[in-house]
Amino acid sequence: MKYTCWGAAKQVTGSMHLLELESGYTILIDCGIDYEDKTNKEINAKFPFNAKDIDVLLLTHAHIDHSGNIPNLVKHGFRGEIICTEPTSYLLEKLWVDSVNIQNNNSNRKKSVKLYGFNEVKKANEQVLTVNYYERHELNNEVAFTMYEAGHIIGAASIRFEIQEGRETKIIGFTGDLGNPGSKLIVDAKPMEGLHALISETTYGNREHKETRSPEELLLEQVTAACIKQEGRLIIPAFSVGRTQAILFTLKKLFSEGKLPPIRVFADSPLALASNNIHNKFTDYLNDEARNYQNGEGSLFDFKSLYLVEDKSDVEDMELYRDSCIIVSSAGMLEGGRIQHHISDHVQNPLCTILIAGFCSPGTLGAQLLEGKSSIRIKGDDKYVFAKILQTDVFSAHPDTIGLQDYFKASDSNELKKVFFVHGEEEAMYDLKNVLSSDFQEKVEIPGRGEEYYL
Ligand SMILES: [Zn+2]
Repeated sequence: MKYTCWGAAKQVTGSMHLLELESGYTILIDCGIDYEDKTNKEINAKFPFNAKDIDVLLLTHAHIDHSGNIPNLVKHGFRGEIICTEPTSYLLEKLWVDSVNIQNNNSNRKKSVKLYGFNEVKKANEQVLTVNYYERHELNNEVAFTMYEAGHIIGAASIRFEIQEGRETKIIGFTGDLGNPGSKLIVDAKPMEGLHALISETTYGNREHKETRSPEELLLEQVTAACIKQEGRLIIPAFSVGRTQAILFTLKKLFSEGKLPPIRVFADSPLALASNNIHNKFTDYLNDEARNYQNGEGSLFDFKSLYLVEDKSDVEDMELYRDSCIIVSSAGMLEGGRIQHHISDHVQNPLCTILIAGFCSPGTLGAQLLEGKSSIRIKGDDKYVFAKILQTDVFSAHPDTIGLQDYFKASDSNELKKVFFVHGEEEAMYDLKNVLSSDFQEKVEIPGRGEEYYL
């Protein structure tokens, strides 16, 4: 069979992997939006293969850089099943609609390309089929697959394929995005056994998570400093699905245990409410701590001082609010989304603390703040940075270099012949490769976009 990495090759976004069997049966794994390849304006609009030739699409998780281009694949003639877990299917409905709204809002800007509309989203939803973790499913008499917990966000899966070619059965594993072990809400990733080839994410291939405080300790400290002692506001940029819930869950515990007074929390992200509800609905997909908490309390995120910002009047209420508060808003790297508004309004406010809770790609606004720049350009204006800028990786949704090395050790065997590094920056991939044992290094390939490998 032939494996081609058509997205997230030597970069983090745009995941898309093609498996073509000798029989002609063709499987696509993920179909995400590429946010990085700015040299090719058509990168998301057109596919490097005929969408009609794809027999089935297996989706690892709902994040837009893995799922966001599926309705466009449908627009180009893909009619097969889209297979994922149930929480992923619920998240997809919301994410795709949000994606159309963003595309419609941007459509008057010259450079933006409209990829799909509500019609394609509706069609794509009709093609979705859900499966449970650890159930083995046969797609036909030559391909079976099993989804494993990936520990990344709710419903995220690694996918283990068993592919019969001639007399041989080949076991191919795709990690999807892995989680950082010990996540607030999600069960840790389970490595796949008996693999002949592994396609692995490497987002934090050369980084080590340094935070030693627990999420509770970290937030207690920062909220006390920013909102109580300084009487200012704490702004936390975070993605709508996953990190926002980990932060809200931690805050709820601190409030309900009486460790913090009821400071107002604005969750200002378009998908936060939907994502909260999906976490409360699919408690089987959460870890023991979160599930037990949900069983006892009835909800993971609802607390008196939480305000979900949904419509215009909520936005007005939030803007008129002058007391100490916490704002959790998307997106995480501060590029686009509602967070821009908060940063623009408060980056010159010395009573404001901006706590960056995740990785920021070089060049993004988040990275500029972390570099300690004295001024930034935001929404067309130059602004001085008087706000306090802090960073933590305690809410990280990806394993660091140690976590990845442990995962590889657990996946390794004499049978494992090839390991493909994807979904990471090129430098991080080479740094990661260099710290692995020489035996394992020999198995590692770092595919470029469109490079073909025979497995
Ligand atoms: Zn992800």
